[in-house]
Amino acid sequence: MKIKNYAQGKWVDGDGEGKPLFNAITGETVGTVSSEGLDFAAMMDYARKTGGPALRKMTFQERGLMLKSLAMHLIGIKKKFYAVSAYTGATKVDSWIDIEGGIGNLFANASLRRQFGDQPFYVEGEMAPLSKEGTFIGHHIMFPKQGVAIHINAFNFPIWGMLEKIAVNFMAGVPAIVKPAALTSYLTEAMVQEIIDSKILPEGALQLICGSANGILDHVTNQDVVTFTGSASTGKMLKAHPQLTEEAVPFNMEADSLNASVLGEDAVPGTEEFDLFIKEVQREMTVKAGQKCTAVRRIIVPEKLVEDVQIALGQRLSKTVVGDPANEEVRMGALAGKSQVEEVKEKVQKLSKSQEMVFGDLENFEVTGADKNKGAFLSPILFLNNDPFKNTDCHNIEAFGPVSTIIPYKDLNEAIELAKMGKGSLVCSIVTNDDKIAQEFVLGAACMHGRILVLNAACAKESTGHGSPMPLLTHGGPGRAGGGEEMGGKRGILHYMQRTAIQGSPTMLTKITNQYQYGGEQIEYDKHVFQKYFEEIEIGETVITRKHTVLEADIVNFANVSGDNFYAHVDATSLEGTIFERNVAHGYWILSKAAGLFVDGKKGPVLLNYGLDECRFTKPVYPGMTIGVRFTAKEKISQEKKDENDIKKGIVKFLVDVYDETGETVALATILTMVKFKNQD
Ligand code: NAP
Repeated sequence: MKIKNYAQGKWVDGDGEGKPLFNAITGETVGTVSSEGLDFAAMMDYARKTGGPALRKMTFQERGLMLKSLAMHLIGIKKKFYAVSAYTGATKVDSWIDIEGGIGNLFANASLRRQFGDQPFYVEGEMAPLSKEGTFIGHHIMFPKQGVAIHINAFNFPIWGMLEKIAVNFMAGVPAIVKPAALTSYLTEAMVQEIIDSKILPEGALQLICGSANGILDHVTNQDVVTFTGSASTGKMLKAHPQLTEEAVPFNMEADSLNASVLGEDAVPGTEEFDLFIKEVQREMTVKAGQKCTAVRRIIVPEKLVEDVQIALGQRLSKTVVGDPANEEVRMGALAGKSQVEEVKEKVQKLSKSQEMVFGDLENFEVTGADKNKGAFLSPILFLNNDPFKNTDCHNIEAFGPVSTIIPYKDLNEAIELAKMGKGSLVCSIVTNDDKIAQEFVLGAACMHGRILVLNAACAKESTGHGSPMPLLTHGGPGRAGGGEEMGGKRGILHYMQRTAIQGSPTMLTKITNQYQYGGEQIEYDKHVFQKYFEEIEIGETVITRKHTVLEADIVNFANVSGDNFYAHVDATSLEGTIFERNVAHGYWILSKAAGLFVDGKKGPVLLNYGLDECRFTKPVYPGMTIGVRFTAKEKISQEKKDENDIKKGIVKFLVDVYDETGETVALATILTMVKFKNQD
């Protein structure tokens, strides 16, 4: 059977015999894979010309809903993927991380649509005032890049590796070409088949190269983005491709990482933290048979606890039954292939030269439910390095399997130094219940790690663990880990967009961004904006309210109602040394009074007040001053119906500009209202 590629809207067998791929448990052939005959340049062109325009036309809300329906579809047929995942040597838990963890990324990114506007592009951050009179301002807008995202992935997470990346570029409005590592590409192929068949993505949004992608970078151009996950050697070779420099193409690299887990000095045997540490390290060594970019490779423990850790970890590892995950007793499956076993063995032999193997054996170990010689099995292997500042192999050699080294430290400074000796990693954890140790460690070691987990009994039950990159947190690390950054919620999406600073008048920038900019033209109509449906409200539409002259009684009454008796409002004798001349009105009263002025009380399309985004009190308001409100429609974000009975509605953001008798702003806030659509279809 040929594992297929999906190119220019068609499933294609590569030419020639292809490379054979094997079942990691039985050694049987799963199929062959080839990409010979594929025209990478034409594929990229197709993505740029077909997928790109279709995705760019969609708003963030639409892209988010597209991801959500894809996630729902895939979760509904997840069993199909579990069946194929078993060929990779994965246990049920390993497959869960890959399949459901991957789909979870689609859901998480879909939810991010609420953090963007309702347009195909994103207006980022705050307006920058650039002139004294306020007639010239600046802002930043972010547009989807008009190229293609090329994702070159490692073999260990054939599904998660693809989904965590495409979720992000699709949200940004950019198409993708996915290149999974050939070794386990049959699982990625199985999922892409389902994605394409579902027709949820627009044509040209996703293509797949299961065979070699050698040469693809020859065709990248300046609007493309390349991401790479794999070994540092391949990554460095690809990053040096002259076309990347020639066209200034971003290249995000996630490579080898010698992640560490540190045991705090307080976490002695008998504490919950000691047990947590042993459990976490054992899990990280054996989940996915140690083929995780985030697996714990270095176990940094207080000198006096080395023996306890070695014994406790040895006991847990000895209970790790290796074999065919179809057998219920089995806790650790196979590596992804025999080639991987050979690579890991070679690294273990290198490590053995400078440190002692205290658990496991490369040859003598039991395999349950499978033929040890046919499958890609390996025993967990634990080393002890008593001289980690001198014998530095454990800080440099990554054996991408169930292999880890215990490293003693004398004091916390040493622990920090040792953790940093990995020269940059994806993740580090410290297990401690001592906040001083935790703080000193985190502040000392943070610059060398992409993520730090501080684990103790208080968070253990709900902790997602050392090894799980979370969609809303940044994944990546400095130095050896590649210097890249991906995921991280909104941040990740912005990697696929071009940030452009725009300058001009507030009115012009209002028109361009479709968001009202302070100082821009305000349009007044007879009908109050609260009597208008979502579709009828215009950005810039303004209600200029009646005025109110502030009374002493307003302040006293508000103090009574709210119970806010802060001295500046109620005690005129206490104002010496403050900026206030007299009893000043409460900021919250100004806002409340503003609502009293701008709200139209009659029942209409406004359903509710949803909250406040920003609020500033910019000038003291005293009795005798007269305030009014300029109430302007600032931004509109439509919402999908939750179900058939739901009302079609959207959020309208209004700028509340409270000003005094001189016209000067005294308070500025953005309020959010939920407004009904006139057209409920
Ligand atoms: P690899 O051998 O470096 O391969 C990575 C990817 O690069 C594969 O898809 C491979 O395709 C592709 N590739 C190789 N040469 C290429 C070329 N000339 N042009 C285009 N693509 C090319 O890594 P691996 O063995 O799959 O993965 C294991 C390594 O990945 C470990 O070192 C691990 O630390 C690292 N890893 C890092 C992370 C992270 O997030 N930082 C995650 C997982 C794994 P073929 O398979 O077709 O050769």
